[in-house]
Amino acid sequence: MQALVLEDVGVLRLKTVADPAPGPGEVLLRVAACGICGTDVHIFQGSPGSAPVAPPVVLGHELAGEVIEVGAGVQELRVGDRVAVDPNIYCGRCRFCRDGRPQMCEHLQAVGVTRNGGMAELCVVPAASCHRLPEGASWLDGALAEPLACCLHGIERLAPRAGQRALVIGAGFIGLVMVQLLRMYGAGPIVVSEPDPKKREMALSLGADSAFHPYAVSRDGAGVPAAHMDEGFDLVVECVGRQETMQAAVDAAGRGARVLMFGVAHPAAEIRLHPYEVFAKELTILGSFINPHTHRAAVALVAQQRLRLQALVSHRFTPTQVAEALPQYSQLGIRKGVLVWPWAAEDKRG
Ligand SMILES: [Zn+2]
Ligand SMILES: [Zn+2]
Repeated sequence: MQALVLEDVGVLRLKTVADPAPGPGEVLLRVAACGICGTDVHIFQGSPGSAPVAPPVVLGHELAGEVIEVGAGVQELRVGDRVAVDPNIYCGRCRFCRDGRPQMCEHLQAVGVTRNGGMAELCVVPAASCHRLPEGASWLDGALAEPLACCLHGIERLAPRAGQRALVIGAGFIGLVMVQLLRMYGAGPIVVSEPDPKKREMALSLGADSAFHPYAVSRDGAGVPAAHMDEGFDLVVECVGRQETMQAAVDAAGRGARVLMFGVAHPAAEIRLHPYEVFAKELTILGSFINPHTHRAAVALVAQQRLRLQALVSHRFTPTQVAEALPQYSQLGIRKGVLVWPWAAEDKRG
């Protein structure tokens, strides 16, 4: 089969490798679509993904495909089923798994991170990681269910309530999903901070009440317009991962605010935090890691077309294009890129 293999840090090659075979409890998928995530770029540059990466490995953890072979003992899936894959595989035995917080698993494995992923014609995954795609859901929907599931976990951590004033920092793919989810949960007004005018426009069309350039007021990166800063926000969702935007997130928090740091920061990044403000404002600062217990809900949401996700995809790539794009990915102005295998581009079901 053809696969995009990360052979070493910074070395991604499209090459022919042996076809994989499903073991007991696993299924073999013919991959239809596989989203490209900021984490793939981080892994390519040598950072860990949701778990440490040891090349060579096939990247790709946002995948959907068709079951073409089932391993021994698989009851719940058949050849021909169309599925979305939850890439994270929990050990089920560590104290976090046993406490119902599997995302903190001490032995986390993940498709496209610790084992071969979806940037290949074929991919073996545990049957238990598959969620059947309902009729009408496209291959793209199936792939995008993964980042949506991660956003849903973030939103569940944030626990927004109707009528809460929300600030979303960054209107890339994740920010634009967060705007829609906040809207669904009844938060409002929803204010977006984003330097790119096209993304601001998109945020407004997807339910944001106002959108502004982060430097509209100050050049220090915080730059929340004064009109919004009198009270601060009840909810702040950081979707960029840069030091200055993380800082802006904390600075924009009002009394009693909950701040979700969703963007993935560089491990060495630091921000200022005044403990007195945490005390006096009763601030809650939240992290969100992967997608525990939310993948089924994400598939249900895309199937019901409750969110506009496909409109957020700016680039559909062939395998060759992915190999060319990844080294310069962040400079290409990509909102969301998805690798679509040629057969799936012509498949009428997706
Ligand atoms: Zn991802
Ligand atoms: Zn575990």
